[in-house]
Amino acid sequence: MPQYAQIIVDIASASVDRVFDYRIPRTLAERVVPGARVSVPFGHRRVEGYVIALVAAPSVEAARVRDIEAVLDEEPPLLPSMLEMAVWLRDTTYCRLVDALRVMLPAQMRGDRVRVKSVRTVTLAQSEEETQQVIDALPARAVRQRAALVWLAQNGGQADAAELARETGADAATLRRMCERGWLTLEGRAVDRRPYAGLESEPGGPPESTWAQRQAVESIGRALERGEGRFLLHGVTGSGKTEVYMLCAQRALERGRTVVILVPEISLTPQMVARFTGRFGDRAAVLHSRLSAGERFDEWRRIRQGRATVVIGARSAIFAPVSDLGLVVVDEEHEMSYRSENAPRYDAVTVAEYRCASEGAALVLGSATPSVERYHAAEQGRYTLLRLMSRIEGRPMPFVEVVDMRGELAAGNRSVISRKLYTELKQCLGRGEQAILFLNRRGFSSFVSCRACGYVCRCALCDISLTYHRGEETLRCHYCGQTELVPSVCPACGSPYIKHFGGGTQRVEEAVAKLFPGVKMLRMDADTTRGKDSHLAILEAFRRRQSQILIGTQMIAKGLDYPMVTLVGVVAADQTLHLPDWRSVERTFQLVLQVAGRAGRDERPGRVIVQTYDPGHYSIETAAAQDYEAFYRREIEARKAALYPPFAQFLRLVYTSEDARCAARDADDAERAMQSALLERPEWRTSILRMDRTPAPMARLRGRYREQLLLKIYPGLYGDDIARALSRIAQNPATGSVVSLEMNPASML
Ligand code: ADP
Ligand code: ZN
Ligand code: ZN
Repeated sequence: MPQYAQIIVDIASASVDRVFDYRIPRTLAERVVPGARVSVPFGHRRVEGYVIALVAAPSVEAARVRDIEAVLDEEPPLLPSMLEMAVWLRDTTYCRLVDALRVMLPAQMRGDRVRVKSVRTVTLAQSEEETQQVIDALPARAVRQRAALVWLAQNGGQADAAELARETGADAATLRRMCERGWLTLEGRAVDRRPYAGLESEPGGPPESTWAQRQAVESIGRALERGEGRFLLHGVTGSGKTEVYMLCAQRALERGRTVVILVPEISLTPQMVARFTGRFGDRAAVLHSRLSAGERFDEWRRIRQGRATVVIGARSAIFAPVSDLGLVVVDEEHEMSYRSENAPRYDAVTVAEYRCASEGAALVLGSATPSVERYHAAEQGRYTLLRLMSRIEGRPMPFVEVVDMRGELAAGNRSVISRKLYTELKQCLGRGEQAILFLNRRGFSSFVSCRACGYVCRCALCDISLTYHRGEETLRCHYCGQTELVPSVCPACGSPYIKHFGGGTQRVEEAVAKLFPGVKMLRMDADTTRGKDSHLAILEAFRRRQSQILIGTQMIAKGLDYPMVTLVGVVAADQTLHLPDWRSVERTFQLVLQVAGRAGRDERPGRVIVQTYDPGHYSIETAAAQDYEAFYRREIEARKAALYPPFAQFLRLVYTSEDARCAARDADDAERAMQSALLERPEWRTSILRMDRTPAPMARLRGRYREQLLLKIYPGLYGDDIARALSRIAQNPATGSVVSLEMNPASML
């Protein structure tokens, strides 16, 4: 019988990120198991910790080992497979083990900030006759006691205490007295806080599958039987991918296995949830960040206890505590939102690959625009490629037309709306249908600059232009929230010709209002979606056709499925093309194609107008032709020529500090340490294509200076070794700046 436990204490500090030994008191012997959450003394404090392993002897003098004080949950929250996954996560994302453990649990569980909700239930303790005798013998003034007994006798002998109080006025004190007399029993009963309890589920079984859907389900089904297999499901929008996911999930359930389905947070709309709950009922659990702490905790418990077996959720749902995992689906696998920007900086798709491999499950990645890297992996045979190349019921793909905005300017049209888009909008509105106008905020915010000298108003804290907000006449930083008044003269040259340029969503809204006075519009961007459910409210209003035009950023590019939308305008397609990031071309293609997919989802044919200043660029041309293959061929050649992923990897170490010199010094130290590591390992040198020590492109963010060491290395061979060496170097920077290390970071800015 092991008498000691190895414990990771829940303190986020590199210096204590190792196991500590504790003695297991005899009274707790049965409940201290690997994965349990416990309370232990640590220095002069009491802290929470996680049991990693049990051992027969401590690694330090037994006299110095202290006792575990308590076990905090009824069942250990971490499954053995999750403990292994945490170690893997630490080793591959270069985080602390405690960070890896934390990401696997509902945040509010730590420190017991959320608990099991229980309702008090009242039950008659005696038989019908005995109860009747008690009622008959009660004195006339015992009104409430009589009412309670009568009501219970008439209503099946049991009720929630709160309901009984409402019905009969019998309060807690009254009920307690009745318990003491042996007439009633009172007990707590755990109940689930269920999100979407009021949601109407979409009824009905699956529609008859198409031939292509059947092919896909069959090959995935065979993988389910084998307990291995990875698929890349390439299907145009509306081709029936989601239906394939549900059919495969059904098969996994029939085999007694569980299922995790990841969906980008923004696509996890009530409609989407209703589709799954309609098919799977109470077996479906939903996990995402808009749930209340209580709801999330209870959904998590339903999964942990095996009561829910199909998990639908956003990024972190990949850590759902399911046993017997049979299938993981990642919808829209190319989405950057699957990558976490805080420690642990994991990619949910990579975690899914790991989980499927180690737990014997099949993996399905779906997308209308697969990421170039994964499509390449499929070509190399590392994924089985499945295709759904046409829309359900032969609905036509939308008709896409490209408008050269340079021609508009030459023709004297200075509006952000081209003449072509104007004509189409007019016809669409005239038919009583709906339109979506899309623009990418990131590349197309409206900034203020000086026409005389070219000065651009930038945030004093972040190295980025400030965004102009009409109405309030302010400039706001979209990274740190800093707000300033618009200057009346140029701070650099004193010229009064300082004006705002470009066109954010507000600018488009104004242009449309001028062209179509009185038309109702909804706007969805970072400003209008601050509140908890505000983005859902906007979508709902649009669905109910309270407005004919929806103007928005990336947020509206995907997932929406509204039959009355027959026109989509991409206001400035090339605005993301020139960001200093190797993914910018791919992102432009994806965005245009995704947003085009919003048009003509029903019987009515859809039209898409793509406005651009760069109509000849292959990402625009192939997106307009809706030809993924053609785009992929061009892009993979470009990547090969420039040695971008998947032909090389970027390994980036960023130090941030409020003090510019500290960040720079720590980054310099890291560079020197890396140089000397290379002297010892000359074979690594051949792997490294470049090593650059510079400020980050976004040199200042939220008041912190950012300095980077960027390595470009050949994949495979020594890549992982170099990353590990760099992660050791990164620890404990001399001046204490904050470090992050990432392989192929989601953003290179
Ligand atoms: P995707 O996920 O590829 O965009 P969906 O699975 O959402 O496609 O399918 C698009 C629409 O077609 C949905 O309304 C869905 O209910 C419907 N659908 C899917 N498969 C079929 C089918 N085999 N027969 C009829 N309708 C289908
Ligand atoms: Zn100026
Ligand atoms: Zn700022």
